[in-house]
Amino acid sequence: MDIDTTGWLDIATRVPSPNQDKRPPGVMPEIIVVHAISLPPGEFGGPWIDRLFTNTLPAEGHPFFAEIQGLTVSAHVLIRRDGETVQYVPFLQRAWHAGVSSFRGRERCNDFSIGIELEGSDVHPFTGVQYERLAQLITALKKTYPGLANAPVVGHADIAPGRKTDPGPCFEWSRLQVLLGA
Ligand SMILES: [Zn+2]
Repeated sequence: MDIDTTGWLDIATRVPSPNQDKRPPGVMPEIIVVHAISLPPGEFGGPWIDRLFTNTLPAEGHPFFAEIQGLTVSAHVLIRRDGETVQYVPFLQRAWHAGVSSFRGRERCNDFSIGIELEGSDVHPFTGVQYERLAQLITALKKTYPGLANAPVVGHADIAPGRKTDPGPCFEWSRLQVLLGA
């Protein structure tokens, strides 16, 4: 797995999101944030995550879609249940994944983070290939961006406590650590 000079992954399907902008001047990614998402909640597959991140989710498609209508969000990458990897935002750009957030007293984590979504929920174990892909991606990011070499890998819940729970109780941090050789 490699990342090109413009911040795109070679193995990913590209679905560019409009929900991105420049990082503040001189700011590079320093932390990696792991998320979980499923649309509708608890259901897997379908085009809905791509549609959410490209502002084309049909409100009439599901009651939950109506609820989240108008959200402008994105992540850098989504890893689906079968390991398919989709990239929405190049890594040097700011993806809009963290929302109101704080890491070690520093706010607006989108400025200085990479956001990776796993297709999953609070009640479904993640798949083996998702852990493998996630570990490969983190390894590639650490190799490509010096500021990430010793970067913390945290959950969305860690930087937005009380507001977010993902990646949730099914995510096995120890399993990721083993794959990263940490
Ligand atoms: Zn999240």
